[in-house]
Amino acid sequence: MMKTRNRILVVIVITLSLLLGTYLQPVLASPTLSKDSLPIVLRGTIVTPDGVIKHGYILIENGRIMDVSDKQPEVKNAIKIDTRGIIYPGLVDVHNHVPWNVLPRWNPPMLYTNRYQWRADPDFLQEVSIPFNNLINSYLCDMNSYGEMRALVGGTTSILATRANLCIHGLVRNLDYNSGFYGTTELNLEHIINVLDLPPASDPVARQTFTQLARIVIANPAYEALFIHLSEGTDAVSLEEFTYIQSQGLLNPKGVIIHGIPLGPSQFEAMASNGTSLVWSPRSNIVLYGQTADVQAALDAGVQVALAPDWAITGSSNMLDELHFADQWNQEYLGGHLSDEQLVNMVTRIPAQIAGIDDETGAIQPGLRADLLVISGNHDHAYRALIAANPEDIQLVLIDGVPVYGDTKEMSAFWNESDLEQIQVGDVYKALAAPAAKFSFAHVVNRLRTALEVQGISLAPLPER
Ligand SMILES: [Zn+2]
Repeated sequence: MMKTRNRILVVIVITLSLLLGTYLQPVLASPTLSKDSLPIVLRGTIVTPDGVIKHGYILIENGRIMDVSDKQPEVKNAIKIDTRGIIYPGLVDVHNHVPWNVLPRWNPPMLYTNRYQWRADPDFLQEVSIPFNNLINSYLCDMNSYGEMRALVGGTTSILATRANLCIHGLVRNLDYNSGFYGTTELNLEHIINVLDLPPASDPVARQTFTQLARIVIANPAYEALFIHLSEGTDAVSLEEFTYIQSQGLLNPKGVIIHGIPLGPSQFEAMASNGTSLVWSPRSNIVLYGQTADVQAALDAGVQVALAPDWAITGSSNMLDELHFADQWNQEYLGGHLSDEQLVNMVTRIPAQIAGIDDETGAIQPGLRADLLVISGNHDHAYRALIAANPEDIQLVLIDGVPVYGDTKEMSAFWNESDLEQIQVGDVYKALAAPAAKFSFAHVVNRLRTALEVQGISLAPLPER
């Protein structure tokens, strides 16, 4: 959604990632638990790819899930927590614009037929674009931290995308910049490319450059996914973007189309037969265009569909809120065709698969990273419980086996009291592990509030009601 539209940026985005990404990124330092990184055993109802285990156990060692069972593992010195909650994989958000989410929601004065229209709307410029541009150079690090916190309080453990900057070390995993997956052996070479805009049809040279670079990414085995914001609108201009991509042979298994609002069965069949996936962002689409992707047709054609909020400016505040919206859309417009399990998969396993990180995260199974979300809810309906959950219901979030956020009671089992920062989330307080966050949230909030005040703008709320 960001306001970037010329070929220079597209070229920069790709070439920077291709040529410099390897060298620019700092090594992600794992925070050390105050209790010596002991093994962890979590008890709770566990949502696994093979079904739900009622009151089971997850053993976590060295950041990874070692065992998932209905029997308690025999491990000496483990920190054992009976969460009495339901445990899911951490949510994987593959469509967001993290630093923008410091700004309050924007209510468009009209509906548009493509994204280039609202980006040029004076109301958008005044309310969103200009304030953002006034902040970004001096406050990117704080803006990213705040955006990551907004995601984290909604259960997200991985997010795409942010901007490249050394200060971004990943409270949640930034999938395009310092995901933490590639450690020291691959020196933070990220495997995902995120492209914001296809150059317009009026600039064939830029389009050709784009196509050449996209082919390089597709042919390079180091890259696992090429996300492109495409066909965001309802008009012929939006549909032509897809037609162009298709005509250039760029539909391929690494390809992920974000939006795809005007696509119909024939386009989805072409995507499915080439292994190209779709990211569905219904709330932002409805707010801006009054229409969203025909997700039913996409699924019928066999396209993999992930769900993500786009951004909080016109979409959802976090993944849980987008789940609420999709659930409501499903009931009202899809005849309840999507099952609860399908909706949960759309924010966990499927985004991990289409991003090529399902060998690392997105499911609870031995060998994967311990990126986990624990909520309170109805154990008899574990999938529905996540769809119905609010940020207040989150008991614990672990990333890489590190409990980074949750209820003070749970977090106190892992951290000293002085390591925990109290964060107001709606009407309740949660605890953030300062050694994991590597920032003081209160300081981030103060700096952003002061900077925004100058422009007469308030800081966006952490969760939205
Ligand atoms: Zn977007």
